[in-house]
Amino acid sequence: SIILGIESSCDDTSAAVLKGNKILSNIAANQEIHKEYGGVVPELASRAHQQNIIPVVDKAFSKANIQQKDISAIGFTRGPGLLGSLLVGTSFAKSLAMSLSVPLIEVNHLQAHILAHFIEDANPKAPNFPFLCLTVSGGHTMIVLVKDYFDMEIIGKTIDDAAGEAFDKIGKIFGLDYPAGPIIDKLSKNGNENSFKFNKPKLDHFNYSFSGIKTSVLYFIQKEVRKNPDFIKENIDDLCASVQKTIVEILMDKLEKAAIDLNIKEIAIAGGVSANSGLREAIQKNSERLGWNIYIPKFEYTTDNAAMIAMVAKLKFDRGEFADLSISATARYDIEEGFKKDIKTL
Ligand code: ATP
Ligand code: FE
Repeated sequence: SIILGIESSCDDTSAAVLKGNKILSNIAANQEIHKEYGGVVPELASRAHQQNIIPVVDKAFSKANIQQKDISAIGFTRGPGLLGSLLVGTSFAKSLAMSLSVPLIEVNHLQAHILAHFIEDANPKAPNFPFLCLTVSGGHTMIVLVKDYFDMEIIGKTIDDAAGEAFDKIGKIFGLDYPAGPIIDKLSKNGNENSFKFNKPKLDHFNYSFSGIKTSVLYFIQKEVRKNPDFIKENIDDLCASVQKTIVEILMDKLEKAAIDLNIKEIAIAGGVSANSGLREAIQKNSERLGWNIYIPKFEYTTDNAAMIAMVAKLKFDRGEFADLSISATARYDIEEGFKKDIKTL
């Protein structure tokens, strides 16, 4: 099969062409516009998607060297995400599916972050079921027990901010651009991670909290800047390294606990924060210490991308799970939800 994937849930407009399990193209247009606002502005995001979607899809076809008439189906992100952003991809996918008379397949964005592991070149080897997937992104942080492609259970999750959100908000306190996660990662490489200590939350079960570290960084910075206005500038690398170390430790502590409690050694990471080099190193170390088989996706499949959407669409295509043309986007979409009622199984 040849599948076109469309992703527009947040601020990246992306299109990808998948042939079998192999990605032929994976094109994204990033929206620079949000930088100056320090976060994604929903109204501007949907407008930018509207401008980008046709050029991005065209480029995905031409890079893949595939004609529109050759595709077998179109997969699109139905949710979760910003409604105004999702509507652009959804409407586009529906129109194109109608004009080409090909089936339409709806995709849950969070399932896609996880199922990106099944793209042929995502890993040297795909994970075996059941596996645990630490799913860490801009909007979500959870440990998911993946029993089968579409049988997922949330074992633990954040009770407040997501890990990516923590990176971004703390970066904002440091005066870094949005999104700050990748910048903190880069600056950390020149810093000493033991320079500053930030409190870690104590939570039951496998749940997370990241609002505490954000507040403790804020108070600490306010106090130090009163004494020395150049404090951030003089210590930015050490600050970033210390924050990154703390966030990674918080993530790894619960993941390790869950892996031991559930006696699972197949461990994956997914989502934008899985691009983080500190997290990648930590999971690597744990694999040696605890005998884990680890799955770290290729960088381009970590942050939002249409390749992962096409991959899920392919899995559903093989099962004949198609969406009706009356389907609409949904801002909330639980990862545990298999298929919504209005989805037809042909
Ligand atoms: P969701 O998938 O929950 O709807 P999203 O799609 O906005 O949210 P992703 O694109 O998966 O999120 O990830 C974006 C997040 O990943 C941002 O918060 C960004 O700062 C973070 N991120 C990306 N690269 C890195 C990195 N190297 N280190 C830390 N964080 C990173
Ligand atoms: Fe995402």
